[in-house]
Amino acid sequence: MALDFTLTEEQQMLEEMVYKWGIDWLEPQMEELYEKDEFPPDLFRELGQLGVNGIVFEEKYGGTALGYVETVLVYENIARVSNALSMTVGASQTLCFDNFRRNAREEHRMEVLPRACSGEYIGCLGITEPNAGSDAMSMATRAVKKGDRYIINGSKIFITNAQVADIMLFYAKTEPEKGAHGMSAFWFYPKTTRGFTAEKIKKWGMRTSPTGLITFEDMEIPAENLVGEYNMGVAVLTSGLCTERITLCGCSLGSQRSCLELSLKYAKERVQFGKPISSFQLIQGKLADMYCDYKASKWMAYSAASYCDSLSDKRGGKGTDLDRVSAAALLYCGEKGTKIALDAVQIHGGYGYCTEYAVSRHYLDQKLWDIGAGTSEVRRIVISRELLRDEFKSGI
Ligand SMILES: Cc1cc2nc3c(=O)[nH]c(=O)nc-3n(C[C@H](O)[C@H](O)[C@H](O)COP(=O)(O)OP(=O)(O)OC[C@H]3O[C@@H](n4cnc5c(N)ncnc54)[C@H](O)[C@@H]3O)c2cc1C
Repeated sequence: MALDFTLTEEQQMLEEMVYKWGIDWLEPQMEELYEKDEFPPDLFRELGQLGVNGIVFEEKYGGTALGYVETVLVYENIARVSNALSMTVGASQTLCFDNFRRNAREEHRMEVLPRACSGEYIGCLGITEPNAGSDAMSMATRAVKKGDRYIINGSKIFITNAQVADIMLFYAKTEPEKGAHGMSAFWFYPKTTRGFTAEKIKKWGMRTSPTGLITFEDMEIPAENLVGEYNMGVAVLTSGLCTERITLCGCSLGSQRSCLELSLKYAKERVQFGKPISSFQLIQGKLADMYCDYKASKWMAYSAASYCDSLSDKRGGKGTDLDRVSAAALLYCGEKGTKIALDAVQIHGGYGYCTEYAVSRHYLDQKLWDIGAGTSEVRRIVISRELLRDEFKSGI
């Protein structure tokens, strides 16, 4: 049983490459981009050149056919510089394209995925609606079949990448009277489809990551753009939730790591009462807690990713160990990440409250991980449901 975090040579190279790119290309722009809440348009093409857009995708789609451990590693290393843009990458590559890869028709996969890998296409995923958040199955967006088209009406809220996406994967009710069994998944090209609008939502955190309110108004899409089986949208949706939760842990981990590294450096440099503040035990206590929480979060996230990589069926969902493990990983990373970022700001004093200092961005971004991809409360519901399952015997 290997319990350390020793990376293979290939994983080490991946980590170093992504972090170096983040420091060289992203870091110099981040303060200004964050201030203006602007998304860097070349982000995905840059990542395409690094070869990290389709980490788990098969080579025939232009991917590198690696695993979810490597995906967490990439998201962590982008998030060491920008948690927000790491989330934008996750929303595109994991929430949208990885789910699309699992469930769309082969000819559509061949059409879309190579462009997702090169960075030409950005993706988004639409589940949440103004009146259907945690209770996603109560969604009201309608898809009505008319000949060889579906007519879509409704709205989606808080959609990451909505305004910049080339491809959207979304869910709509096809037979609302059947409840969760009357929902289907679809995809289309938002930039060229009439009846689609995306309005920017202003946020205080996760700035630079575009978030939109989407309206579908008599939007027509080809009937063949149904993803998965008719009325089987729940299967498509749940097949992506576990890998989403696991990989998005990387966003929180990157911020946690930077908060710790930046705080260690600052505490050694900042002198008060004639001594570096790192000599004060109250500061040392915070640093020790940050370290423990980061290490434990890292174990939760990477062990979940490694467990997922070991499974031939990675769909997870209700009644699987993967459901519990992935919800637990993001619950832990989210809550510890919020605390670590708060401590990092505190160690930086007044400077931590200023936008020039990266800890301020990590702090603002981290709170999202108690909310996005199912809130902490929903994750606790999932974990306890799976623990209380009759067949649950393992302590893992
Ligand atoms: C920046 C950002 C990016 C996002 N990106 C996307 C995206 O790309 N695609 C997408 O589809 N969605 C996205 N979301 C939406 C996100 O997944 C939802 O915000 C989240 O699922 C919660 O839904 P809600 O905001 O409607 O809160 P609600 O469901 O209204 O919850 C409000 C509060 O009630 C609690 N609550 C609800 N039900 C229960 C219960 N049964 N028991 C106990 N407590 C409960 C919640 O935990 C929460 O604290 C994003 C959100 C944000 C803020």
